[in-house]
Amino acid sequence: MDQLSHVVIAGAGIGGLCAALALTKQGRQVVVCEQAATLSEVGAGLQISPNALKVLRHLGLEDELRPFAFVPEYAAIRDYKTGEYYLKSPLGTSAESRYGAPYWHLHRADLHRVLVEACLQAGVELVLNAAVVSYRENLERQPVSLLLEDGRVFSADLLIGADGIRSKVREQMLGQERPTFMGQVAWRGVIPVSDLTVDVKPDACVWAGPGRHFVSYYLRGGDYVNFVAVEERSDWLSESWREEGNVDELKRAFAGWHPEVSELLQSARSTFLWALNGREPLSTWHQGRVVLLGDACHPMLPFMAQGAAMAIEDGYVLAKCLSRHSLKDALFQYEHLRKPRATKIQQMSKANAGLYHMHGDVLGRMKLTALQVAGRFVPNVIQSKLDTVYGYDVTEV
Ligand SMILES: Cc1cc2nc3c(=O)[nH]c(=O)nc-3n(C[C@H](O)[C@H](O)[C@H](O)COP(=O)(O)OP(=O)(O)OC[C@H]3O[C@@H](n4cnc5c(N)ncnc54)[C@H](O)[C@@H]3O)c2cc1C
Repeated sequence: MDQLSHVVIAGAGIGGLCAALALTKQGRQVVVCEQAATLSEVGAGLQISPNALKVLRHLGLEDELRPFAFVPEYAAIRDYKTGEYYLKSPLGTSAESRYGAPYWHLHRADLHRVLVEACLQAGVELVLNAAVVSYRENLERQPVSLLLEDGRVFSADLLIGADGIRSKVREQMLGQERPTFMGQVAWRGVIPVSDLTVDVKPDACVWAGPGRHFVSYYLRGGDYVNFVAVEERSDWLSESWREEGNVDELKRAFAGWHPEVSELLQSARSTFLWALNGREPLSTWHQGRVVLLGDACHPMLPFMAQGAAMAIEDGYVLAKCLSRHSLKDALFQYEHLRKPRATKIQQMSKANAGLYHMHGDVLGRMKLTALQVAGRFVPNVIQSKLDTVYGYDVTEV
């Protein structure tokens, strides 16, 4: 097996930090280079499904995270106007017993902070203000070097590109190519429950409407409500893929929706607007001593709430493969284990846009009604579709 003692990671997002923690626990020296000057996360929630939670548990983080979690009682799809349920599928204790780990809602900032603290405690070196521009492979003792904008160089035995959807590492490995705008934008925000004038159900709820959908769920033990409001758009003109959104514009876009949605939005004070981008599956995820993970290699629409979960799984599997095989075989194995799963979930996420956005009033409602009937007569049909996603356990692979 190769001597692989030093690893450098581009990007201290959720995927990069999970990989860093798993590799440090194996006794490797890990440096993470992050472009941001401070480690803070946007105000937004994440649904963390049992498959991701199994990894966080193996990394020793479940108890740290529990006080910040909210456990939803069920997942729901409701009509944007009448509030009628097209789907009501149990989560809570039922998800925990079915999948062997709970389904949680977490604030991104809480998950990120717990990961950072665990990494620092384990001995990961976190370098901030470290914008990666490129890398080179060379004949030095540590044969791959990460080059920063300010001229600093970090060399290692392996470079992991965990630098998100606009990955510089991916760009150098596979050529310059912008991610594709998927024709949808998402407003995200977090509202303190004390500001609400409306009762929000303890669920993970998708409100399906024409050309739009709205997601709401509690965070931090029920102290906050997170919302994601998705709207179809023909273009995205801004260079940035995330910017401050206009709350009034958001309220106008969802005016006339069920009072649980429109009144909830009345309490929103600020929001961020995200362009939802995607990428066709890449020809490869690794080359020489460089490998990609998370959004850097498989960005996906957030309609399965699995992007962060996939980055978490990637980081863990990559570390596991490196502990079992020579470098070349490990990177091959990693891609072999991860690519089919990530690609499948990318496709499932895209398909959900069609379901949530009632394309064509009649056709849209027919799809949702079919789901309603299936849920009523064969309740397991919905769960069994999700079993391959939530029931998967990378710690057992
Ligand atoms: C609206 C919305 C809702 C979502 N909801 C969910 C959900 O409920 N559940 C879920 O699992 N997923 C969800 N996701 C997806 C999830 O947020 C992403 O898939 C996940 O954050 C990807 O993690 P990552 O570590 O690969 O990349 P990122 O989180 O993007 O991290 C990349 C890191 O690299 C850094 N970086 C970038 N470029 C450089 C550079 N040149 N040099 C140095 N550092 C660099 C960045 O600053 C960042 O810290 C959602 C996404 C959106 C848009």
